[in-house]
Amino acid sequence: MNAKRKSLGRDVDLSLFRLIRFANFEKHLGKNIDWVLYWCGKELGYQLAPKSLPELLILFRELGIGKVKVVGNNPMVIRVEECITCSGLPKVGRTLCWFEGGIIAGALEKILKKKCLAREISCAGLGDDYCEFEIKFCNKGENCEKIMMENIKNNKK
Ligand SMILES: [Zn+2]
Repeated sequence: MNAKRKSLGRDVDLSLFRLIRFANFEKHLGKNIDWVLYWCGKELGYQLAPKSLPELLILFRELGIGKVKVVGNNPMVIRVEECITCSGLPKVGRTLCWFEGGIIAGALEKILKKKCLAREISCAGLGDDYCEFEIKFCNKGENCEKIMMENIKNNKK
């Protein structure tokens, strides 16, 4: 992508990203901002179209989203260290990284050609040093969207 920023270049400070990420979207868009972030992330993950898991890991690193590795199978668990959204933030009693979870789910659907969702189970928002996303592959006829909506509702309690 051509930034056309001769003197400022491509990089911006992380604080700018977080000011945007944690802007008061709920005030303007309603209460379902986590849901919106997740689905926007999911579309993005699908459109980034990584061809393999290693390619997804490289993509996350190159875009500065975080350092990703698979730390569990059955269920698959994906860890993101140095997450762009939450790394270093104080514990707030809930997970924060809906956008990143969405990207992971969208990318995995593209790679594995299976419907799935990514539920964040570890996060700086919960006091953890990294994020972890548990991947649930959805069976035929199972309502993945409904399961994800329940996850989001439960996170807010
Ligand atoms: Zn997180």
